[in-house]
Amino acid sequence: MSDSPIWHPFTQHGLGEPIPLVTHAEGAVLFTADGQRIIDAISSWWVTTHGHCHHRIMAAIAEQAGKLDQLIFAGWTHEPAEQLARGLRAIMPTALTRVFFSDSGSTSVEVALKMALGFWANRGEDRHRIVVMQHSYHGDTIGAMSVGARGVFNAAYAPLLFDVGTVPFPTDPQATLDALEAECRAGAAAFIVEPLVLGAGGMLMYPPQVLSEMRSICATYGTLFIADEVMTGWGRTGTLLACEQAGVVPDLLCLSKGLTGGALPLAVTMASEAIWDAHYSTDRAKTFFHSSSYTANPIACAAANANLAIWREEPVLERIALLAERQQAHLAALAGHPAIANPRRCGTIAAMELGTTEGAYLSDLGPRLLGAFREAGLLLRPLGNTVYVMPPYCIGPDDLAAIHAEIGAAADSLTT
Ligand SMILES: *Cc1c(COP(=O)(O)O)cnc(C)c1O
Repeated sequence: MSDSPIWHPFTQHGLGEPIPLVTHAEGAVLFTADGQRIIDAISSWWVTTHGHCHHRIMAAIAEQAGKLDQLIFAGWTHEPAEQLARGLRAIMPTALTRVFFSDSGSTSVEVALKMALGFWANRGEDRHRIVVMQHSYHGDTIGAMSVGARGVFNAAYAPLLFDVGTVPFPTDPQATLDALEAECRAGAAAFIVEPLVLGAGGMLMYPPQVLSEMRSICATYGTLFIADEVMTGWGRTGTLLACEQAGVVPDLLCLSKGLTGGALPLAVTMASEAIWDAHYSTDRAKTFFHSSSYTANPIACAAANANLAIWREEPVLERIALLAERQQAHLAALAGHPAIANPRRCGTIAAMELGTTEGAYLSDLGPRLLGAFREAGLLLRPLGNTVYVMPPYCIGPDDLAAIHAEIGAAADSLTT
């Protein structure tokens, strides 16, 4: 169909679905080459927080591009990274004293897993089992896939994946806590979890109380607690970090997506002093052996510094609260529709299941909805039959209403 040589991610080209060409973007809106105005209802896959082409972030990128583009980061440093590390120390939990840079959410998870195992190895303790939560997603590299849910997305690569312990999603919280306690008592090295919302697993939400109880179980047995806030961080759940709502401070924290406001690829893994200490030595064998070429790219760091300045100087949390309130009102209006099940919200994220319970019919519902939404001028990408709305915080009330009106129309089309 297309003569483009591009092989797109998570795209079955054999289905011949159209691939729109986007030329520019502003705020919560994308513009295509054929003149369509598209509302970005999922923040371009959960990254864009303050809006596309935010002037402060774009200006910081332009300024940094005139000074220093890239620098080896092993044994060298630059001001944008130093400033960013100080800025993160100032707004993230004080127990997270160390900042390690990488370039994507997946690599921030790989780094956290390697730091956790390095911690135990350098202390001479034989603890290496990783525990995860059912339905989790932590990225698409081999280690990140290993700690994520197994299924059609990674079945072919199963021989490459390592074994983990899995605790059930806390539909029944006590069962989750009991399973976690058994793993920790048996000496698990680390537990990795998405706080409050499991994103790619279907926007599954669980209460802060469960998060804080899971954290204290890990603390009791010394199992390292890794919070993957790659999606939930930077205000998505209503607070800067989702962990905040549970009073939880992890041993390792993964941040990416909204770190640059969604403008450039960058990630950090923040670590406690104890994890740093386990690697700190005159013995080269205890070095943390990890790097990628673009670690702490100066231009990406400059974008992240602009994001931090926006958080410090603008009423971001108030914008988030207003968006959350509007999402709640729209959800309330959709609730009770016969084709909508389990409407739910956490902070700025609204989600629901669409359709009846006829299994075979549902299997192609997601792609059909995707096409219908695109024709209606929306970037909405359902996860199976789960439809969710996670827009940039700057979205206008009319655009937000238009998204929910289309979801309502899609639900109507399923009942008539
Ligand atoms: C998106 C995501 C990742 C992976 O981030 P990439 O930048 O796509 O590699 C990891 N963890 C969670 C919770 C995510 O939502």
